Amino acid sequence: MTVETLRVTIIGAGGSDPPPGYNGPSILVDDGGSRLLLDCGEGCVQQLRRLGYQPCDIDAVYVTHAHIDHWSGVFPLMVSRIAEGCRSLTVYAHPEVARSLGAMREMAPSKIRLEIVEVGGGFRAGRMEVRLAPVSHTVPAYAAGVYLGGSLRLVYTGDTALTEELVESLSALGEPQLLAADATLPTGKEDVARETGHMTVTQALELRERLGAKLLIPVHLTPISLRQLLGYRRLPPGVVIPVDGVSIVV
Ligand SMILES: [Zn+2]
Ligand SMILES: [Zn+2]
Repeated sequence: MTVETLRVTIIGAGGSDPPPGYNGPSILVDDGGSRLLLDCGEGCVQQLRRLGYQPCDIDAVYVTHAHIDHWSGVFPLMVSRIAEGCRSLTVYAHPEVARSLGAMREMAPSKIRLEIVEVGGGFRAGRMEVRLAPVSHTVPAYAAGVYLGGSLRLVYTGDTALTEELVESLSALGEPQLLAADATLPTGKEDVARETGHMTVTQALELRERLGAKLLIPVHLTPISLRQLLGYRRLPPGVVIPVDGVSIVV
């Protein structure tokens, strides 16, 4: 019996104010046959190429919410696909997010079609099943749970504050092997985090405990939250400080 694995690659671990050398938010999930991007922020296409992927290798993109740092890479991804001969790009999004992406469809060069597929509870991508769960942000936003062979391999929170509703919503997805969680702010800035719909490093660690995730990758990093992570003498086991391009097989 072969055990199915999912390769999770951090394309961009930065947020809207990424630390130097980090791209905007984007995670690539690859089941060996299909490749899906969870968000596609700034620098997304360049990072994919750096890793040896071609723009046409991407089967679809899911956009977690309407804030532009999570989809500013979609237009370059679309344009870069033309030269390689693909004729369309599929983007999954909830209706309220799809509305913001709609303008891009008109801007799309004539040689490529942007297919925006509105989703509700989830969708399938190759052998992966993606279930979506609402989170606590300043606009409607969703986390993505990626299942392979019926088991939950990854939960990506997108942008979210730590609330009881969030824990409840994500717990319903199950216990993930890997949690990629918003860690925009350093510990001590919990009030700013609450106001702006984000988490601090400590809150990302707490969420991991509460969900029972084996591994944690803090994402949506800023220079100040990355500085805190790099300053830890000893991080709890299973916490990975990302550099863009790092892959974890779960
Ligand atoms: Zn963001
Ligand atoms: Zn946001």
